[in-house]
Amino acid sequence: MRIVLLGPPGAGKGTQAAQVARRFRCANIATGDIFRANVAEGSELGQAAQEYMDRGDLVPDDLVIAMVMERLAERDCQAGFVLDGFPRTVNQAEALDRRLVEMGSPLQAVLCVQADENELLRRLAGRAAAQHRSDDAEQTIRHRLEVFSIKTRPLIDYYRHRRLLTMVDGVGRVEEVTTRILGGLPSTNGGGDPALALAV
Ligand code: AMP
Repeated sequence: MRIVLLGPPGAGKGTQAAQVARRFRCANIATGDIFRANVAEGSELGQAAQEYMDRGDLVPDDLVIAMVMERLAERDCQAGFVLDGFPRTVNQAEALDRRLVEMGSPLQAVLCVQADENELLRRLAGRAAAQHRSDDAEQTIRHRLEVFSIKTRPLIDYYRHRRLLTMVDGVGRVEEVTTRILGGLPSTNGGGDPALALAV
């Protein structure tokens, strides 16, 4: 299964991506995690990304696209993948499409996990306290939500036009949201209740 999980910061994409990847035994590619690992290692990529991440801005497309293209060429992606946090711009989405067409394995589904802004702020503040992420300070959180609205939200229409998009309510217990996601996937309608996923 080749899936993209879209959604604002705090929507629960990371938790859900891990569940879905486990279910399909496929690669879980979380660009934020890859960047944080590079920052921790002090790699060249980490050094280039850190200032953007600390401000809550997007890392420039060329760096992200190169990193993801390299990751997609790894062996474990042959069994499929769940992309969590990529693409985040139309430019990134177009690069992904081009690569997947070249590989003869286009995306099969895009799930957009939603929650209202108060819920997102509440969750992100909780995560800031628990994980001490440098980009979870209140100002930065608000900025990241704005960046999502401006740069990433257009991907909802991008994928809707390609008939790949399903909107999923991200509020509820983790297992409930996973069930909605699985119900929204093309070949797994037996694995969840399709009525719980709001097709757009
Ligand atoms: P996340 O853990 O997905 O919220 O990502 C944390 C940070 O990593 C983001 O705020 C960005 O600075 C950077 N990042 C992750 N994925 C991308 C992407 N696809 N494009 C640009 N920046 C990204």
